Amino acid sequence: MNNNWVANDLKHVWHPFTQHFTASIPLAITKAKGAILTTEDGNEYIDANSSWWVNTHGHGHPVIGAALTKQFEEIDHVIFAGCTHPKATELATRLCEKMGDKFQRVFFSDNGSTAVEVALKMAIQYWYNKKEERPNFIALQGAYHGDTFGAMSVGERDLFNRPFEPYFFEVHYLGFPSSKEEERILERAKRILSSRKVAGLIVEPLVQGASGMRMYSVDFLDKLTSLAKKYGTLVIFDEVMTGFGRTGELFAMNHCETKPDIVTLSKGLTAGVLPMGLTVTSNAIYETFLSEEMSRGFLHGHSFTGNPLACAAACANLDLFEQDETWENINRISDWNRAFSSRISSSNLVAEIRQLGTILAIELKDEVSGYYSPLRDAAYSFFLERGVLIRPLGNVIFINAPYCTSNEELDKVGEAIYAFLQLLDQ
Ligand SMILES: *Cc1c(COP(=O)(O)O)cnc(C)c1O
Repeated sequence: MNNNWVANDLKHVWHPFTQHFTASIPLAITKAKGAILTTEDGNEYIDANSSWWVNTHGHGHPVIGAALTKQFEEIDHVIFAGCTHPKATELATRLCEKMGDKFQRVFFSDNGSTAVEVALKMAIQYWYNKKEERPNFIALQGAYHGDTFGAMSVGERDLFNRPFEPYFFEVHYLGFPSSKEEERILERAKRILSSRKVAGLIVEPLVQGASGMRMYSVDFLDKLTSLAKKYGTLVIFDEVMTGFGRTGELFAMNHCETKPDIVTLSKGLTAGVLPMGLTVTSNAIYETFLSEEMSRGFLHGHSFTGNPLACAAACANLDLFEQDETWENINRISDWNRAFSSRISSSNLVAEIRQLGTILAIELKDEVSGYYSPLRDAAYSFFLERGVLIRPLGNVIFINAPYCTSNEELDKVGEAIYAFLQLLDQ
């Protein structure tokens, strides 16, 4: 074995979302603390996108660490069919309390994609168990729900999943509900839903993450959810990205009047420390799976379902959300975002600035990428040179930092973005 571990990476590792033929050498991270990632050669980077949007309270948080150590001494892992353990039940109970009366049942899986697969399979089997034919789903254009087959099927059909498209099930896509389009989209949704053939409607509530942190109104979402319910369609909110404080509330659905039937959670669920997904639903849905017959049950599971370490991290994450300091930080970051938005709003390179809670997205005008092509790669390297790790989504530069990020660190991120805009404007 070569002692140069980065060389071994280049030799043996296949990275996610990477074209290895053209990719540059990965950052060799050897330490993560708070909002700072440190490389082997001692360079520091502000983790402005929370390590793929997962980290909530900062890296190496002592409360999470202590919970993990304690849990490891008690139970590392145990089969979750026929067995249970204290941290899984604590997590399920506390989450149901926080999510409101309607949410009474928690199904455990491994990540955001599996939480979505479970939600889709639940919706399909719900109608199967009720012996009603509902073959369709509705999703939004630009959606991202993960990379497994069901999740890809309800996502945007694009270059990322073209080879697999022949294997996807059929989905009706509604256009993205920008304010001008809302009425027209609701009309179309009504036409599709009134057929009573739609098993489920799935959306990323209020913010579409991967398509560029695109935001839409609470009013639209409330109307769409109500409409779906009117025709019996199950509504799935994919809160994998929006959950755990990102939108300024614990869950995006807290902004809404009308609640969904199924919610998927992952990313920030374990404070971004261990992989786990949850699919949370009502007793009404759960009860359609109860029967003397085994086959009416939800016969789905993963080897690591309900992993005690992940559950312990998730419970400690909830502990931190019960501290005022976390919400003070979320509000402080939201304020910083607003102030920074107004500072750059006059730039003539900026097409749109979007902000909700701790998420700030700056969409650059399309023609900008023409001058500075490929814009995304240029921006990524520019920020790295200034000690900031931001992975833009095409021409959208965005910040969704851990809640421990200080104003000084945010200012440094802001300066880097400001400098990039000035460079482009020359
Ligand atoms: C990231 C994401 C997923 C997929 O989660 P993974 O853990 O990456 O599988 C699903 N839905 C949304 C909204 C996401 O942002």
